[in-house]
Amino acid sequence: MNYGGIEAGGTKFICAVSDESLEIIAKKSIETTNPKDTLKKVFDFFEPYKLVALGIGSFGPIEINKNSELYGSLTSTPKKGWENFKLLSAIKKEIDVPIHLTTDVNAAAYGEWKHGSAKGLESCIYLTIGTGIGAGAIVNGEILSGFGHPEMGHIGIKKHKKDKFNGNCPYHSDCFEGMASGPAIEKRYGKKGYELADKKEVWQIEADYIAQALINYSLILRPERIILGGGVMKQKQLFPLIKNRFRELMNDYLSVPDLDTYIVPPILEDNAGIVGCLQLAVEYK
Ligand code: ADP
Ligand code: ZN
Repeated sequence: MNYGGIEAGGTKFICAVSDESLEIIAKKSIETTNPKDTLKKVFDFFEPYKLVALGIGSFGPIEINKNSELYGSLTSTPKKGWENFKLLSAIKKEIDVPIHLTTDVNAAAYGEWKHGSAKGLESCIYLTIGTGIGAGAIVNGEILSGFGHPEMGHIGIKKHKKDKFNGNCPYHSDCFEGMASGPAIEKRYGKKGYELADKKEVWQIEADYIAQALINYSLILRPERIILGGGVMKQKQLFPLIKNRFRELMNDYLSVPDLDTYIVPPILEDNAGIVGCLQLAVEYK
């Protein structure tokens, strides 16, 4: 039996077909342009396969509350052409199978929880630091959700005293995402993150912001593990800097797991999202 997964991102849609054990049968990356052209390519990809169910992890913000009239619609996304787009109904029209929809980071958290760095635990957070910052959380073995999905990238943080940058979030300027996303780094220094690899201060400031966020998540959710993914986290020197700053800021207040097992990279690397989507398809068929 074939299961489908779509990791719908602002730069690319990753589509995959697998069997029940998540063995990948086919996979394709499709550039995100406008909804019509992008989805046409998505449907062409799935056309030869008879799917039993489909799991979607989408960029957002997207309404994932099934009780909402807007369920399945992208809402205030800054991605041009996609604002208010009814993603779920557009896909359902062409691929009429049970569809489980969640956010891209929820799907990645689910993938890492079932098959990656948080396997066997009851709780974890998956945080991506890339073009944007977002997180999904597993709490008591379920994806955390309430009125809508969490938006852990837009929390307030204290500005580093050596930082002159005022942030680039269109809604809050200097929220966590506004100060620490890939584009924030690029705007602050006029260079891409990977071009700044040997600039110590860049990563000290970055680690301070990430550590502050992790302190907040730890205080609010007490997860067993926090997984850090996304393009910016390819700078592996961030991990020890984040752990040191986390230790300083926590100042022995809370006990958390040993930091080397608490703050970790995703085992599934860039596949966390698509694995999560396929897993959701298999489970929620
Ligand atoms: P997206 O968030 O769009 O899904 P990524 O997670 O790859 O994609 O994040 C892209 C962002 O991460 C860009 O701002 C890019 O400059 C930054 N980035 C990608 N690779 C690196 C790297 N090796 N070092 C630092 N920053 C990086
Ligand atoms: Zn913000």
